[in-house]
Amino acid sequence: MGKKVCVLEQHYTAGGYTHAYWRKGFEWDVGVHYIGEVHKEYSTLRRIFDVISQGRLQWAEMDKVYDKICIGDEEFDFVAGKDNFIESLVANFPKERQAIEHYVELIRLISKQSSTFFAGQALPPMLAKLYNKIRPKLVHKAFFKTAREVLEEITSNQKLISVLCGQWGDYGMVPRDASFLIHALIAKHYLAGAAYPVGGASSIARAIIPTIENAGGHVFTMAKVEQVLIHNNKAYGVQLAGGHKLYADKIISNIGFMNTVNHIMPPSVKTQYGMDNWTNKVTRSSASICLYAGFNQDAQSLNLKKTNLWLYPNEHIEANVDAYRTGETSELPLTYISFPSVKDPDWDNRYPGKATVEIVSLASMDDYQDWFGTTWNDRGDSYLQLKEKLSQILLKSLFKREPQLEQALEFYELSTPLSTQFYQRNDGGEIYGVNHSVDRFKQSFLHPQTPIKNFYMTGSDVLTAGVGGALMGGVMTTMRMQGVFGMNKVKKLLKAGVSQ
Ligand SMILES: Cc1cc2nc3c(=O)[nH]c(=O)nc-3n(C[C@H](O)[C@H](O)[C@H](O)COP(=O)(O)OP(=O)(O)OC[C@H]3O[C@@H](n4cnc5c(N)ncnc54)[C@H](O)[C@@H]3O)c2cc1C
Repeated sequence: MGKKVCVLEQHYTAGGYTHAYWRKGFEWDVGVHYIGEVHKEYSTLRRIFDVISQGRLQWAEMDKVYDKICIGDEEFDFVAGKDNFIESLVANFPKERQAIEHYVELIRLISKQSSTFFAGQALPPMLAKLYNKIRPKLVHKAFFKTAREVLEEITSNQKLISVLCGQWGDYGMVPRDASFLIHALIAKHYLAGAAYPVGGASSIARAIIPTIENAGGHVFTMAKVEQVLIHNNKAYGVQLAGGHKLYADKIISNIGFMNTVNHIMPPSVKTQYGMDNWTNKVTRSSASICLYAGFNQDAQSLNLKKTNLWLYPNEHIEANVDAYRTGETSELPLTYISFPSVKDPDWDNRYPGKATVEIVSLASMDDYQDWFGTTWNDRGDSYLQLKEKLSQILLKSLFKREPQLEQALEFYELSTPLSTQFYQRNDGGEIYGVNHSVDRFKQSFLHPQTPIKNFYMTGSDVLTAGVGGALMGGVMTTMRMQGVFGMNKVKKLLKAGVSQ
């Protein structure tokens, strides 16, 4: 768009949750297991990725069965393609054909109408507020209900509801609490299958940085912003940790809403706008633990599949999560397993004879209070013991499903909410920004344009979580910055695709 951009990232590597990390001769992604639609050349997301990476980013399609939902000993396949998806579920629930077909039509409708629902994000805030008042007349009523409310209207079959919500870990809220909107957007996002970036998740940033640099911009890592510089309600720069000041015409925060308000807003500006009141109106999304495991044989010899596994002890999603959170049970309510090395066709060139697995489950920052104030790699024995205990639980689940992996295990390491806080600066260890409740989508302060002139927000909190959601958040902020009459310029650029 003719602008020079200076990206300031506090981590030692760029990319946010799309970064990868390396340890003991292995590489793992931390927040990208699969992305929908990008393997379809003409999809909106693919076009945007093509434009911002100038065609450098390549995608590898996963298996037709992109997700396998395992409830107790039963398995349910999510198969790429609308009709395949329906037929696979109908085979498991023969009496529920009508409900399954209705559900698929509804998530497609919600996805289609989401541009109408989110149109206010590209408008000036005052207009957006007015628009959002008439919005309920323009879109389906399911936009304003929880996932469970809508699904209970479609079917009374509780197991089917649990299967349809089997990907709830992708948005981190149980169906009772999550908006149907986020449920539908995620389910539809993957309906045509999913893909993984060739070269691993870090190739996303690697492919985009040259575009920024070719336009005269820069990307700096280990560059923590401490405060936005504001004078007379106008942002004019940022102050970095260490005191260095940088000046710019426009400042855009991509560090999340909570971090923006709590970490980089001058206290006087926070008070002026009552921003604490804003942060009290939303909640942080779930935290997680993740086990990163490395194996000393390649994925083919280990017979690994490009299918994600979602393991549930039984069909009672909410009851299991509640019981785990209150300490009534220690059984994990959800275990998610991903096999990144087999998804990446370039893996064997970089790491011959090796394979990786990632296992994610729920966690709560409250359980880590004993170690508040300690720092990474120096939290003491009790922390290491807890990590080891959790690692063994996750490994046990893995080996129960894939026993051939046990003899090839070479390395494992567990991340906790404290790791997320340390590396990402998210105080609650949250992995999806602000929680995706029905109320979240009514909050006018989650908007690209802030009340401070020349200061904008972007990323997942101005739209939805997920790499696709964050990317579209970027598009919305760009549109807002171009103004009502400049929006078409953005649309044209994206429509033209990589030839631009
Ligand atoms: C375990 C896990 C699995 C996931 N799996 C998937 C998946 O399979 N598919 C999918 O689409 N999505 C997935 N996601 C979600 C997806 O990764 C995120 O929603 C998305 O990347 C968020 O992008 P963002 O740009 O909004 O912010 P982020 O990626 O959170 O980036 C924010 C950046 O701001 C930096 N920062 C914070 N404070 C400062 C400061 N003061 N100064 C400078 N920099 C600062 C942080 O270091 C970070 O790099 C997953 C997330 C996690 C954690």
